[in-house]
Amino acid sequence: MSEYPVHIEIMPKVHLIRGENRARFPEANTLVIDDEILTLVDAGSSMKNIETALKNLRHEIADIDRIILTHFHIDHKHHASKIQEISNCEILCHPLAEKGVRSFDGLVEYYGIEGNKYYNSWRNLLDIRFPDITGNYDVTGTFSNREPVDSGEIQLIPIHLPGHTLDHTCFGINGYKVLFLVDIDLTSFGPWYGNEVSDIEVFKESVDQVIAMKPKIGISSHLINPVTDNLAARLQTFRSVFDEREKRILENIGKGIDTIEKLAQVPTIYPRIPMEVYLAFEVFMLEKHIALLIRDEKIIEDDGHFRLE
Ligand SMILES: [Zn+2]
Repeated sequence: MSEYPVHIEIMPKVHLIRGENRARFPEANTLVIDDEILTLVDAGSSMKNIETALKNLRHEIADIDRIILTHFHIDHKHHASKIQEISNCEILCHPLAEKGVRSFDGLVEYYGIEGNKYYNSWRNLLDIRFPDITGNYDVTGTFSNREPVDSGEIQLIPIHLPGHTLDHTCFGINGYKVLFLVDIDLTSFGPWYGNEVSDIEVFKESVDQVIAMKPKIGISSHLINPVTDNLAARLQTFRSVFDEREKRILENIGKGIDTIEKLAQVPTIYPRIPMEVYLAFEVFMLEKHIALLIRDEKIIEDDGHFRLE
């Protein structure tokens, strides 16, 4: 038995199916909208948890009408193809997500990991943890920014908030006070932007947009409880991690840790590198910081070596 209930009610007809291991990657939460159109938002909790939650709500996988994907990431689209096989449900995503959702080649391109020296480690992780992910996903339609997706009583309002990835979309639930924040995830880890299609500055703007919306409830893909207390402060703390990382990188460069490879050995983004594959993402994210630091003339690059301006 898990040490916490598999699902909780957020509001009438809206339930959070929690991921295993407190919804930490490679798990993610799934929302179920138990409405006229039985809808999942993402499909990243374990099949066991999805099945259990549906059973408790007097449904089964075959009853699912629609899956809405927040972005193309493996821990979010994960079981969508298997669920579609069983239920013949629709799969909707943002138009910019299609390429990364539909095919594994598109996903690899969005990750920007083709030809990377850690590519095989990444593939191994997928084979062990995401065996279905290399197959195709049949996207049946797209949603449009701010055009509500109607399930009956519940309207899900897509809010395109890129940066984490180019397609990253949060959802307002019957308005903008209750937000599914997805991977603006309020974890202590902080923001993740390790793909070709991730962008630090765009991500910061997206977090600022959420802060300006003054939501009352923020549902994260990687926390098992929605955040209600001090949500504004939690968003600010999450936002501040970008600058803290930049500061640490500058300190390291000041100490003579002056190449990407050396910087990756004293990781700034990950507290530790549990598997070799994480180095690939540490490097991708360091490179994005470095590009901005060079642009802003805070550091100078000389043949792959950095020094403070
Ligand atoms: Zn993600």
